[in-house]
Amino acid sequence: MHTIGSWWRASSRGRSSLNRRRYPAPAGRALLRAAALLLSLTIAVPTAAIARSLAASDVVLDLSPATDLLATWPKAGTGTADAPRRVRAAERRAALALGQTPAYRALRAFIAAENRCTLADAEFARAVTHPDSTLCGLSLQPAYVDRDQIRALAAELHSYSDSLAIWIAAEAGRYLPMAEEWRPVRFWFVVSSRWSFDAVTLSPELAGTTEPIVLINLTEVIGYGANTNERVRTLAHVMAHEAFHSALRQRERLLVGWAKYQQPIRSPLDYIARVMTDEGVAHWIDWGGRPGADSIFTRSVPGPHEAKAFDQLAIATRRVRDRDSDFEGRTEVLQMASNGPLWSKYGAISGMFAAYRIESQLGLDSLRAAVTGGPSEFLKMYGRVAAADTLLKRVPAALGGG
Ligand SMILES: [Zn+2]
Repeated sequence: MHTIGSWWRASSRGRSSLNRRRYPAPAGRALLRAAALLLSLTIAVPTAAIARSLAASDVVLDLSPATDLLATWPKAGTGTADAPRRVRAAERRAALALGQTPAYRALRAFIAAENRCTLADAEFARAVTHPDSTLCGLSLQPAYVDRDQIRALAAELHSYSDSLAIWIAAEAGRYLPMAEEWRPVRFWFVVSSRWSFDAVTLSPELAGTTEPIVLINLTEVIGYGANTNERVRTLAHVMAHEAFHSALRQRERLLVGWAKYQQPIRSPLDYIARVMTDEGVAHWIDWGGRPGADSIFTRSVPGPHEAKAFDQLAIATRRVRDRDSDFEGRTEVLQMASNGPLWSKYGAISGMFAAYRIESQLGLDSLRAAVTGGPSEFLKMYGRVAAADTLLKRVPAALGGG
């Protein structure tokens, strides 16, 4: 298990032993020691840690929330899909205890926020012991039916967790700002409803934790492919996407260029700019390496998805600035920036193509600098790329891309 800060503590020890070699004669050394002791008693000496990229040891995969829930269900054939079964008191206690674990507490908090409905302890337990019941939008029946496939998926993810962590850290890490210290990017794998969510990064406040948490719903991941291998391959892209969000949340509050983009964001334009950067780069990480990416990311002329996303962005920017339009309408336009069908998410998708254009024209280091610089810098940088190529779509001037 990775412990917070272990990397820089180890390296700072190494540095101090190097320094010692340059110390002068023994008498001088004693004097220096006394001076150092006096200093250490009066002021805290700052540790000069080296900024580094996200590493595999920062990415922590925890499959036990999913496997613990699956363990309460019989293998296919004995319970089949025909729940409810006869439930023993020990099974009910196990289901209640499961609802109290950090991962399912976080899931319940997410469900409560999404569905505006609180799932009581007993209700969560009932959803587990009687999967055919739907409580507060939670229905485990699809998971119950697919339980053996989900078990196989969890086992495969467990056996590949080291290589997945390496791949995810590399994919997300090369776009993230450097940091002296990273807190763990935690993935909690759970079993939840179908058609609800596949992966989500929860804030520490919502998750009840000290760092952001990524929940992965394995029930939904079953829909990623026809077999376990295909599912794991697709999930790796999705996990890199979420790792970017989760790790960026750690850094952004310390970066000047992100100061005005912290939640809650008052300005609709700042909100869209944030989505374009945060979701845009996450989508680029997610989709840039998938099979068939060549047909989406077209070198010379923008393809239909790219053109549509920027057209929708222009329309949305006009609508949220229109003071005559109603509040609900403007809120809906803002939600569509990052919610709904993939190609309709005008903020996330225009941002994804902006990230692609920045990287292919100016290089990876420039895109990383744009992320570190914040949404305003990201849009300005894309603006320069688009200004140099008349075929590329422009970002509306109101968003600061001009
Ligand atoms: Zn995202």
